Amino acid sequence: GVEVRDVHKWYGTHHVLDGVSLTVRPGEVTAVIGPSGSGKSTLLRVINHLERPESGHVSVGGELVGVRRHGDRLKELGERALLTQRGRIGFVFQNFNLFPHLTVLDNVAAAPVATGRLRKPAARELARTLLGQVGLADKSTAYPRQLSGGQQQRVAIARALALRPGVILFDEPTSALDPELVGEVLDVVKDLAGSGTTLVIVTHEIGFAREVADRVVFLDRGRVVEQGTPAQVLDDPREGRTREFLSRVL
Ligand code: ATP
Ligand code: MG
Repeated sequence: GVEVRDVHKWYGTHHVLDGVSLTVRPGEVTAVIGPSGSGKSTLLRVINHLERPESGHVSVGGELVGVRRHGDRLKELGERALLTQRGRIGFVFQNFNLFPHLTVLDNVAAAPVATGRLRKPAARELARTLLGQVGLADKSTAYPRQLSGGQQQRVAIARALALRPGVILFDEPTSALDPELVGEVLDVVKDLAGSGTTLVIVTHEIGFAREVADRVVFLDRGRVVEQGTPAQVLDDPREGRTREFLSRVL
């Protein structure tokens, strides 16, 4: 699971995360919703330590992220330890971020080889399996530019899965896609949710959140305004700000 405890993040004088806490239990799917600029991407970046919070902490699978205890203080992890840790946290970006010069197969096989987990033949075999899982078995020799946006995003999901992460973070995985390609990506995410993978999904697809999420977190101006089951937060919100946001996006 994922544990975020009283995290504060500033950019200059801008208090972007203002005491955020949340718990994602193993196997649970949490959807994070909220207005543009509310801190959703920053929260995901703090969870895998692409950003360091000024205070508070994050743990994934019971292990502190990016830091370790040193007496009563926290010390930054070294580069190697951080890379090992990141391998346990998958990240799928809005804009796919595939390697343009590698084939689809090698995009998926690259990380397990680079981190020394698998040798190349085993990594490629795993990549083939994962590409089958996201419905792209026939695209392994193509290059990213030869694929549709939806196909590229499914490769990105297969790539995240290749490290067998304990949790996968999705940052608006469908927002860069043409509407007719959204469904194929959401179907893959839905499969993952059904298979018991722990997921944190930033999304503006409210219908999707209602369908797949165990919990919904509404973030506004760097604070968790409300969280609960989809029925509580989406259908019967307690807070005025949640209602106002939902009335704008639904
Ligand atoms: P969106 O829905 O538009 O993606 P978001 O909820 O993901 O928004 P964030 O990207 O987390 O919002 O940004 C939160 C705030 O922090 C915004 O006001 C943004 O301008 C600011 N911000 C984000 N990254 C940086 C940065 N590297 N330096 C300075 N300010 C930043
Ligand atoms: Mg964002």
